[in-house]
Amino acid sequence: MRIVVKVGTSTLAHATGRLNIRHVEGLVKVLSDLKNAGHEVILVSSGAIGMGVGKLNLPGKPADMPTKQAAAAVGQCELMYTYDKLFAQYNHTVAQMLLTSEDIDHADRRRNFENTMARLLELGALPVINENDTVATAEIKVGDNDTLGAIVACSIGADLLVLLSDIEGLYTADPRKDPDARLIPVVESVTPEIAALAGGKGSGLATGGMETKLRAAGMVTAAGCDMVITNGEHPERLYDILEGKAVGTRFLGEKGTPSSSSSC
Ligand code: GLU
Repeated sequence: MRIVVKVGTSTLAHATGRLNIRHVEGLVKVLSDLKNAGHEVILVSSGAIGMGVGKLNLPGKPADMPTKQAAAAVGQCELMYTYDKLFAQYNHTVAQMLLTSEDIDHADRRRNFENTMARLLELGALPVINENDTVATAEIKVGDNDTLGAIVACSIGADLLVLLSDIEGLYTADPRKDPDARLIPVVESVTPEIAALAGGKGSGLATGGMETKLRAAGMVTAAGCDMVITNGEHPERLYDILEGKAVGTRFLGEKGTPSSSSSC
């Protein structure tokens, strides 16, 4: 299977912005094993700004764009250094790919991206993708990595997109506020009723929330690709997800739509 796994800042970093070693090591181990089992794995990783905040000892997530970008430039190095080192323990080679929405909208650039991606996968490398925060200001920003993950999954014809977050999945209500909230295991179609279940934004250093995840679900399922939201604290659940077992919330790709289309 061709799998895109998106991991959010809330999984990768503590609230201090420092690396969550337990989470990252667990994730790298499982992704390496999935590659060893013959799957193609693409990682869309946030965390650059969060880690830059930690590395630069900033008091919290910066409000202004230049400081965010500076934090991302510092944190992206830390992020890739960490992935490079950890994946090397399992004999896997990572490749950094930094994108903006302009790269996706521009036919030539998009083709270049797809060609590079195809070659990297043939060569057995593990692409690690993030937004190019140094150049991506408001107008050319994808904005959040849930959407970036969906764009990547569609453009490379992935079979599955997994969003690792700090929440178990989609609930009938906000579980942080409503004790009666129930997890929804399967969503057959992203209807307006489902879209209305999106609450506000996620935790401290993170960018997305349920709204961006549901938008991502709408994009990939329309292209025939399944999407799962699950808690990034338990990366070993990826094994169950690949076996089709009930984990988090699974959004079913529309039947009859080949996932190899570039329809996002
Ligand atoms: N590109 C940003 C980063 O790596 C985050 C975007 C997001 O969290 O969705 O920090």
